Amino acid sequence: MSPLTETLLATLKIRVCSSTSDTYTTTEVFTGGELATLPESSTTDVRTAYERASRAQREWAARPLGERLAVFHRFHTLLLRERETVADLLQAETGKARRDAFEELSEPALVTSYYLRKAANLLRPRKRAGLLPGAITVRELRQPKGVVGIISPWNYPFALAFGDLIPALIAGNAVVLKPDSQTALSPLFGADLLYRAGLPADLLQVVLGDGPTIGGAVVDTCDYIGFTGSSRTGALIAARAGERLVGCSLELGGKNPMIVLDDADIASAARSAVRGCFANSGQLCLSLERIYVPDAIFDRFASAFVAEVGRVRQATGYGYGADVGSLTSQRALKTVSEHVDDARAKGATVLAGGRPRPDLGPYFYEPTVLTDVTPDMLCYAAETFGPVVSLYPYRDEDEAVALANETDFGLNASVYGRDLPRAQRVAARLRAGTVNVNDGYASAFGSTDAPMGGMGASGLGRRHGAEGLLRYTEVQIVAAQRFDLLNPPRWVPYGAYSRFMAASLRVMKALRLR
Ligand code: NAD
Repeated sequence: MSPLTETLLATLKIRVCSSTSDTYTTTEVFTGGELATLPESSTTDVRTAYERASRAQREWAARPLGERLAVFHRFHTLLLRERETVADLLQAETGKARRDAFEELSEPALVTSYYLRKAANLLRPRKRAGLLPGAITVRELRQPKGVVGIISPWNYPFALAFGDLIPALIAGNAVVLKPDSQTALSPLFGADLLYRAGLPADLLQVVLGDGPTIGGAVVDTCDYIGFTGSSRTGALIAARAGERLVGCSLELGGKNPMIVLDDADIASAARSAVRGCFANSGQLCLSLERIYVPDAIFDRFASAFVAEVGRVRQATGYGYGADVGSLTSQRALKTVSEHVDDARAKGATVLAGGRPRPDLGPYFYEPTVLTDVTPDMLCYAAETFGPVVSLYPYRDEDEAVALANETDFGLNASVYGRDLPRAQRVAARLRAGTVNVNDGYASAFGSTDAPMGGMGASGLGRRHGAEGLLRYTEVQIVAAQRFDLLNPPRWVPYGAYSRFMAASLRVMKALRLR
């Protein structure tokens, strides 16, 4: 059943930076059988990867931007041409539905075409006002950080690795990528596509192995860290990067709320929320796990939503026949089962789902809708990261906003309502990096011009937009003067000079020059 051929696997293995004979085996999620045996890297390999990448980076950064961008033009073409292979690998290693795989591979395509259009303007030198107008010229340059370490999770292994590493490369950096071990095939294929597109040798290194050991070595070695994963690991990485005074961006977890306003189109909100809650089996950092509904329309919304959930096709297989696929691991299945069983045992009502589906595959779990969920239940405040959503009634808008904001996370949120200005006002009151009005997550995430990331425990920094590229650069200021204008001539006493300068400062302020 696995779409992975021996030839393809051999091509992918070459892309791993490993000098050890250690290997590990990944799982084909739909069946629970073996998928691939891959080389493991050691901490010495991480150091080697860094050194090779660093040497390649100097030559890459010296190339004109147009030459660098040509590689990504070709990558975009190759990625779309080979999309079915990417989707096959993604499905095999994550168990996601093919539509989720297609959505996933669209992200690096969108990111690539966005920065192909924007990079020249974002990276160009900019004039800044000099201290002495006309006499001191100041230019702001954007220098690459050097070697960027990208550490990525298993839920969107291709999108989150390549969506983040492509702008790093475009900005003139090299990259050492540490994907999650279970989901290394699609990133390795992405690396292969980049090299086929003309990326210079050694510029992108892939290391594989245990998170704390190999990921930790990446954090201890690289010049900047782009991390996507759990808030717990994110905090460890920030502390470790902080010890070396190395910058990092952190894209972390969420417990994302959706507010249905009293003027919402109930049928349309219920239909749209299905995707917002259950895309990628809920293993999406932006997934909605809490829905707040006005008392007056709670029952109508609940029954419309449950009816929509009943229409969801959950299935195994490599075609486009399923809306929702599998969870990715035994660990994910265990967390989801624990959250639902705990809620049920403490008095929650299961309106839909609530069971694993071993008849479909070892890690399948039904799309699940709960109500009567209380703060003592695991799924109330902790991220379930699975196909489980809880419905809560609310009295008025202020209460809905307060409940939605009752979390340390602040990643994504949704507001549904017919009156758009009102829905947008409510959106602005939510503490979340992105808020989608009349949609779950795709409007904000797909808008690559808009910076995307979390507040509070959901992270630091932003991907997409100008920030998504500029985070991988250092600002360098070059201030130039032809003559020494900032020190008095030898024959002028400093007291007289300071009076002259004070007068100049007054005049420049009055003329609004400085
Ligand atoms: P995780 O933090 O366990 O692992 C993420 C990556 O970090 C993996 O590659 C892992 O091997 C590595 N890692 C683990 N421990 C490490 C350490 N001590 N030092 C360095 N690297 C280490 O997260 P996960 O379980 O793989 O991913 C799920 C989490 O990611 C969820 O909380 C989800 O919300 C979050 N996520 C966030 C975003 C976002 O954009 N905000 C996107 C996807 C997933």
